Amino acid sequence: MVFDHLPEGVTRETMDCDVLIVGGGSAGLSCALRLQDQINQHNEDVASGKKPGQPIPDQMIVVIEKASEIGAHSFSGAVLNPAALRELVPNFKEEGCPIDSEVKKDAVYYLGTDYSFKLPITPPPFHNEGNYIISASKLNRWLASRCEEKGINIFPGFAAVEALYEGNKIVGVRTGDKGRDKNGNPKGNFEPGLILKSKVTVFAEGTRGSLFKKVSEKLNLREGKNPEVFEEGVKEIVQMPKGTVEAGQVIHTMGFPLSKSIGGTFIYTLPEDKIIVGLVAYLDTNDPLLDPHRELQKLKTHPFMQSMLKGGKVIAYGGKTLPAGGWYSMPKLYGDGWMVVGDSASMVDVKKLKGIHLAMKAGMSAADTIIDGLIAGAEFNESVTKAYEARIENSFVKKDLWAVRNFHQALSKGMLEGMPHIAIQEITGGRGLQDPMPLDHTDAQTTNKVVEVWGPNGFEEQLGELPKPDGELFFDKLSSVYLTGTMHDEDSPNHLILKDGDICRSVCEPQYKSPCNHFCPASVYEMVPSTKEAGKKELQINYTNCIHCKTCDIKCPFENIEWTVPEGGGGPQYREV
Ligand code: SF4
Ligand code: SF4
Repeated sequence: MVFDHLPEGVTRETMDCDVLIVGGGSAGLSCALRLQDQINQHNEDVASGKKPGQPIPDQMIVVIEKASEIGAHSFSGAVLNPAALRELVPNFKEEGCPIDSEVKKDAVYYLGTDYSFKLPITPPPFHNEGNYIISASKLNRWLASRCEEKGINIFPGFAAVEALYEGNKIVGVRTGDKGRDKNGNPKGNFEPGLILKSKVTVFAEGTRGSLFKKVSEKLNLREGKNPEVFEEGVKEIVQMPKGTVEAGQVIHTMGFPLSKSIGGTFIYTLPEDKIIVGLVAYLDTNDPLLDPHRELQKLKTHPFMQSMLKGGKVIAYGGKTLPAGGWYSMPKLYGDGWMVVGDSASMVDVKKLKGIHLAMKAGMSAADTIIDGLIAGAEFNESVTKAYEARIENSFVKKDLWAVRNFHQALSKGMLEGMPHIAIQEITGGRGLQDPMPLDHTDAQTTNKVVEVWGPNGFEEQLGELPKPDGELFFDKLSSVYLTGTMHDEDSPNHLILKDGDICRSVCEPQYKSPCNHFCPASVYEMVPSTKEAGKKELQINYTNCIHCKTCDIKCPFENIEWTVPEGGGGPQYREV
């Protein structure tokens, strides 16, 4: 249940700003930084007579972020295509941008159950020459420090819970209250959320943004589009013995360990003898038992991985979803008083698994649209924000996404049926046999019953034994969650809203074995003996473990969970991943 009643005599403060950016990730911070840089440039040009017109008055630019600090919820693969970063901060290297390594070598391997071979040539989507291995968390901390140097207001620990409307125009947001107990009652440290009024709001919440999801439903922004679909990814950083790792290698693998779902793995090598190991899987799998954390543990048992990781110790872990639908799943990008950028708008090149450069460029394009509006002294109605869509159309965001516009739709048919489509798309610039190729399902709709996927003879044996957790290379989920530093106040409302517990007990557990118990990468969901019906199990939600990946909001077959933002500041504390 969402609690928003205020104690008697308490009112919400209202704060006015000019530009409000919801989300302090790469998209939101790039928007803020570009905006301030362009305002400064415009004013210098006007002052020096290079440009006619009036200077732009000081603008109050506000970025709100639900994490306790910028970067704490930033999680990505991440190999960065530097195209947008170079445009935003041309001398980013000299300016101290935290880059772990330039990519020096690429390779793709196929993994059988106990063998491996390297593909003789690395397929083009896996070429990473000119790219950089980075930590999204570190990159965003750096971007935030540059924003703050330029006077941009960044408010971490503030979660936007409601968009404010005047008719259909968005005029700001309300942030969540702090200091409620688990029943929603105000505690001694209660602080009501703020009303943040803005002339224009940029939604940059990241994957499956919970606020933009509501905006999109209210304003019907997905009409005529393919459904939004996702992948789930998990990754670990392994500390290896000194002198054993050559930094700058990017390796992708196919095959083992995923058997019922489409996906793959990635391995990046970092300075100081660290190795990133990650796994991503399509969430429109029909497998109710998909468990990326389990598969990641299995991956590390493979002889190919053992030869690389022996003697290593996992020091960091994280998980997230990433949009996979691409161009035809993008919502309407603008409206009266608002624009949407980055992962919230499905801007990920799913073939190359790259979205940071697209998110940054989209944020910068939104900033340029705002500048034009400010120079014209216009209100940010749809007639002004529409120019953002044209900027996306004319940028590498469209170019990159257009080339893979039918990729996910083809693969979601399964490897065998999908590969011929992919081959034809490859030689027709993404068009393929059908363009646009429709997608007729959401991820929630594809889950089948256990018996349909694993057969009548039980699934346990087929899943195989998991490696024993050793606290070094192999972890159970709870121990992995510990590595994320995740914290939520135990005495705060549960942010995971279960709509109907009877479905979990009577239908989902008996037939689907409760997929949330498997796909959640943080052991939040657990079936425990029912207190209502003897012999049955019911769902227990350990919400304080949640690492905000959003999979439960996407993949529950009965759409029985709604992910809402917890009290601002809660969640993982990523620093390196
Ligand atoms: Fe099943 Fe969804 Fe209930 Fe989990 S929340 S047990 S996936 S119905
Ligand atoms: Fe992800 Fe949901 Fe689990 Fe949180 S509860 S970690 S959002 S699947």
